Amino acid sequence: MLRAEGVSVHYGGVRAVDGVDAHLDEGELLGLIGPNGSGKSTLLNALCGVVAASGKVRIDGRPMPLGSPAAARRNGIARVFQVPQTYPELSALENVVVGSHEQGLVGVAGAWFRRRAMWRLERSRCREAMETLEMLGLADVAAAPAESLSYGQRRLVDLARAMVAQPRLVLLDEPSAGLNDSETEHLGGLLRTINRDLPMVLVDHKMGLITSLCHRVTVLDTGTVVADGPPGEVLADPAVIRAYLGG
Ligand code: ADP
Ligand code: MG
Repeated sequence: MLRAEGVSVHYGGVRAVDGVDAHLDEGELLGLIGPNGSGKSTLLNALCGVVAASGKVRIDGRPMPLGSPAAARRNGIARVFQVPQTYPELSALENVVVGSHEQGLVGVAGAWFRRRAMWRLERSRCREAMETLEMLGLADVAAAPAESLSYGQRRLVDLARAMVAQPRLVLLDEPSAGLNDSETEHLGGLLRTINRDLPMVLVDHKMGLITSLCHRVTVLDTGTVVADGPPGEVLADPAVIRAYLGG
């Protein structure tokens, strides 16, 4: 359903992503792994349009213009960033509802616009946001300001926000970073459930999570794909082991 061909992102002389071919199939949970600095986040940035990139990306066979967050959203690509993007002063519920259609409004005026936008919303939207929070086990904290939530909860609020945008696919950047073992296990269960309806790309360093969840794994090293296949096979691949050992 998503096919990237020859995607590159260069920062001056740094080839952060260098001619990557990758694809995501219908229903799939794809792991995207690689050592630090191998280009995982940059590839996700290219797919959701927040950096200038060259190459071709098709969604359901249709070409998607690169370098445009609006085009990526229109094509149903939702992104959960590595660092929580919640508005601290808004409740968990408000973050989900407002985040689903208002972006990039910051400061005092931004907060006012965000609240006003929120009041204008139909109840169905709030209900949908609430159902998503419930599904993620956050019903009890829906009314709490995001700043009062734990780090792990704020990451789930981000995930809820991505889900209510009714995406075609979700890109997740290290959702388990900063979570303890039991939180990571909880997250794994949630991702498996969400994946019944949504294909996902999961970037993560916790190999237990990757091998237990992912149907397939693509491995990056210095901006290029060095392996692609079932998790067990890929993790035993000498090229992958070399990449992680920095050889
Ligand atoms: P990963 O997510 O796999 O750890 P990144 O995609 O963050 O890797 O980074 C890939 C490479 O691109 C690294 O060498 C990093 O230093 C470089 N890079 C990432 N973002 C920028 C940027 N905004 N400006 C310059 N170089 C960058
Ligand atoms: Mg990264």
